[in-house]
Amino acid sequence: MKVERIYKVFDEYRGLSDSKLRPTELKSEQFLKAFRELLDKKNNWPFLLPLRLALEACTHCGTCAEACPLYIGSGRNKLYSPVYRTDMLRKIYKRYFTLTGKIFRSLIGAKEITEQDANAMAEAAYRCTICRRCVLACPFGLDNGLVMREIRKIFAELRIIPEELKEEGVDNQLRYGSAPKISYEALMNILDFVKGEIEENRKNVNIKIPVDKVGAKYLIINNAGDYLSFLDTIRGIIEVMNYVNVDWTFNSPRTGVFDNVNYGLFYSDKDMLQVIRAHLETINKLKPEYVVIGECGHAYDVLGHLMKDLIPPEERPFKVIHIVELYEKFLREGKLKLDKHKNSEPVTFHDSCKIGRCGGIYDEPRRVIAASCRDFREMYPNREYNYCCGGGGGFALMSKYNFLDFRMKTYGKLKMQQIKDTAASTLITICANCKRQFLDMVSYYNLNINVSGLSEVLANALVY
Ligand code: SF4
Ligand code: SF4
Repeated sequence: MKVERIYKVFDEYRGLSDSKLRPTELKSEQFLKAFRELLDKKNNWPFLLPLRLALEACTHCGTCAEACPLYIGSGRNKLYSPVYRTDMLRKIYKRYFTLTGKIFRSLIGAKEITEQDANAMAEAAYRCTICRRCVLACPFGLDNGLVMREIRKIFAELRIIPEELKEEGVDNQLRYGSAPKISYEALMNILDFVKGEIEENRKNVNIKIPVDKVGAKYLIINNAGDYLSFLDTIRGIIEVMNYVNVDWTFNSPRTGVFDNVNYGLFYSDKDMLQVIRAHLETINKLKPEYVVIGECGHAYDVLGHLMKDLIPPEERPFKVIHIVELYEKFLREGKLKLDKHKNSEPVTFHDSCKIGRCGGIYDEPRRVIAASCRDFREMYPNREYNYCCGGGGGFALMSKYNFLDFRMKTYGKLKMQQIKDTAASTLITICANCKRQFLDMVSYYNLNINVSGLSEVLANALVY
C-alpha cells in the first residue's frame, strides 16, 4: 500500500507515523488476540463492564454527538461523532465475539477486519480527547471515550502508539525520571533561580525550598514540564508554601521518577501501572502523609483515583490530593491573607476534564479565585459541562505531522470562542496539559490573553 493512500485513510490529519502504522503488516490475528484479552475479566476487570455496555447497549440515538466538543467544533463532521468511531470497533466485536456474528455475519452488518479498517481505527482512536462529556448526555451513560482508550490499548499491544506518548513520554520517564529528562543538577539550578527571583521581589522574605525531605507532611510532586515551561507556577507554589509555613517538600530525580505525569493513562494499562509502581517507589522513600499533585489533571486522575482500583490500600499508606484542594484548605484555616485588588484584571477559569468532570473538583478553585481576584468571569458552559481544551488524551503533547492543526481547528476553535466571550485578560487553569494547549491556541489564533496557573495568581495576592 502506498503512503499517500494510507494518509487519507481516516481524515486529512495524522497522529501516527507511517512507520507506526506499518501499512503492509496488519497482523489481524494479533489485533483480535489483543481485543479478546480486553474482553476477559481477568485481564481487564476495571474497564470490562463499561466496554461491554458501550458495545452492546447503544441505540444509535445520536444524543452524545451534540455533547462532543470534537463533533461540534468540526462543524458536525460525521467522522467525528462519538458513535461513528465506536462503531468501528463494534462491527468487529459483533463479527468475531458474538454468536450471531459468527453465524449470520452478513445479515447483521458485522465486518471482517481489513487492513484499511484497522489503520483508520488506530487514527480514529487518536481523535477523541477522552474528555467524557458524551457520557453525561447518553441516556444509558455509555462511555465512548472509554471505548477509544480501549482501542488505543489494542493498538498498544501491536506497538502502534504515538511516539510523543511512548518513547518520548513513558519510556523517558521510567529511564530518566521525567519525560523532558531533567537531571538533578538542572532541577537544583532551576530552583535556585526561582528562590533568587522571589527574594528579589519580596524583600526581607527568606525562602526555603526543601527537596527530598523524608517524612514531610506534604510531598508536592509537579509535572516536570512546569519546571521548563511554567516556572511562574513553580514560583507560586514555593511562595504559598513558604507563606503558610507548613512541613513540605518537593522531590527530585534522586528519588527516582519525580515527574507526576503518567502518559500510560492515554494508551495502556500495563504502561500506566509501571509508572504508578515507579511513583510508589519514590513516595515510599519519602514517606509523606499527603501526596500533593502539582498543577496536573491526568496525574491527579491516575494517582488520586485510578490507583485505588489497581493497588491494594496497604501499599499506599498516604492520602492523595490536588494542590488546589490544599490551597482551599489553607484558605478555610485562615492561613492566607489575601488582597484581591492585587489581581484586578478580569480572569476566567477552565475546568480541566480530569480534575472537574472526572475528579469532582469544581468549588475549590472557584473559592481560591474569588478570594484572590477582583473580577472573576465564568465561561459557559462550565463545571461538568465545560468543553475540553483539546489537549486531553495526550493531544497537548502531539504536534508532529499536522496534528497541531487538527486540535486547533476542531476543539481549539470551540474553546477559543468560549474564552473570548468572557473578555477576560487572564485564563487560569490548574493542569499543565491544558496550559500547553492554551499556549498553542494563543499563538495559533493570535489571542490577546495571558495563560496562567492558579498558584502564581494566589501568590500574587498574598499580603505580607
Ligand atoms: S470523550 Fe469527549 S471527545 Fe471523546 S467522544 Fe466523548 S465527548 Fe467526544
Ligand atoms: S447517546 Fe448513548 S445510546 Fe445514543 S448514540 Fe450515543 S452512546 Fe449510543
